[in-house]
Amino acid sequence: MRKVVKFGGSSLASAEQFKKVGAIISSDASRVYVVPSAPGKRDSKDTKVTDMLLHVYKTASEGKDISAEIEAIKARYNEIITGLGLEGFTLDQDFEEIANSLKTEPEKDYTASRGEYLNGKIMAAYLNIPFIDAKDVIFFNEDGKLNTYKTEKMLGAKLAENPRAVVPGFYGMGKNGKVKTFSRGGSDVTGSIVAQAGRVDVYENWTDVSGFLTADPRIVDNPEPIKYITYRELRELSYMGASVLHEDAIFPVRQVGIPINIRNTNIPTDEGTWIVESTAHKQEHVITGIAGKKDFCTVFISKAMMNSEIGFCRKVLQAFEDNNISVEHLPSGIDTMTVVVHEEEFMEKEQKVISGIHRLAAPDSIEIESGLALIAVVGRGMRSASGTAGKLCTALAQAGVNIKMIDQGSSELNIIIGVRNRDFEVATKAIYACFIG
Ligand code: ASP
Repeated sequence: MRKVVKFGGSSLASAEQFKKVGAIISSDASRVYVVPSAPGKRDSKDTKVTDMLLHVYKTASEGKDISAEIEAIKARYNEIITGLGLEGFTLDQDFEEIANSLKTEPEKDYTASRGEYLNGKIMAAYLNIPFIDAKDVIFFNEDGKLNTYKTEKMLGAKLAENPRAVVPGFYGMGKNGKVKTFSRGGSDVTGSIVAQAGRVDVYENWTDVSGFLTADPRIVDNPEPIKYITYRELRELSYMGASVLHEDAIFPVRQVGIPINIRNTNIPTDEGTWIVESTAHKQEHVITGIAGKKDFCTVFISKAMMNSEIGFCRKVLQAFEDNNISVEHLPSGIDTMTVVVHEEEFMEKEQKVISGIHRLAAPDSIEIESGLALIAVVGRGMRSASGTAGKLCTALAQAGVNIKMIDQGSSELNIIIGVRNRDFEVATKAIYACFIG
């Protein structure tokens, strides 16, 4: 058994956290590849090192003095180095190089990536295993997307030579030969890429929560954690706002069927959540989780005999595409169709879209309604259970919530409910109480 272990920023924010991580790694010999983030917040008022780096980059780009900011970042690392008692280890030379590059030719991605790079060096020294610079093994294409072919080949070869290693998260090498980062939170993606290229058995992603929760803890008190979730269910829930893992982190491991185990560095005995392709584990509840977002808009279009007009939907959707607006859902009736969009994206272009629909599809009427919240009720268990939608509607009716829209795809993996923004919390609680707690 071989595992990749990725640790998030809060797991590596201080020497004390580093020690917990060290204990986790040494307690299991199968934890062979380590992917660290940059030091995160030590408490709620603290600043992440990545944010400090982005700030010093800004200061340097404005031609201002950076010495105080560099010293503050250096102090964060020195506190960790001293706390770990790493005698003879220093990052002085690295800091000199970073300061020089900022003074001569400041590069945003290079600067931001140093948080992981430096933390990786400390980790390698602390664990006494090799350090592999991500810029030598992870490559991007011209369009900014990952060069999967080259990365798999180079990283795979490097890992084959090193049975254990530290690979810092968040960056790689751009097509122009310069360091390039993923989007924020991208160390999760690095972990997934290392897991895939190293063909390991498990990708453990260590963070500060014990996995995915069945509902948003800001709405539901103490929601149950999810033990097993499939990649597809996760995608549905993350899309609707449940966030623990970077969205793109699923794809590399999913391709080769490596499960992800979300774990809590502060409570390592918790089993966390398993994200898997498919599972025979019986679910405790019919649904796996609930997530939702506010502020959607519906565009309701009606036209007599719409059902027999071939190409009507395409023409309507053309108006949205022409204005570069992505469409979320499309519930339809015989002579009506509704297009659900993000309010923020739609607002400024609404009149253009409406005139576009009139011009392209000549409907009888168009009505817009804003302030809609969407709630996704997700669960692979719904496929074999009857009455889920019925129970859901009853629960909402009993809570006094009017359902504005309901949409269930034939995959039976999720039911999307549209309610008024002001009913969002009440509806979420009612659904949770009905199916889980
Ligand atoms: N340190 C980076 C960030 O704060 C990347 C990561 O932690 O995954 O976004």
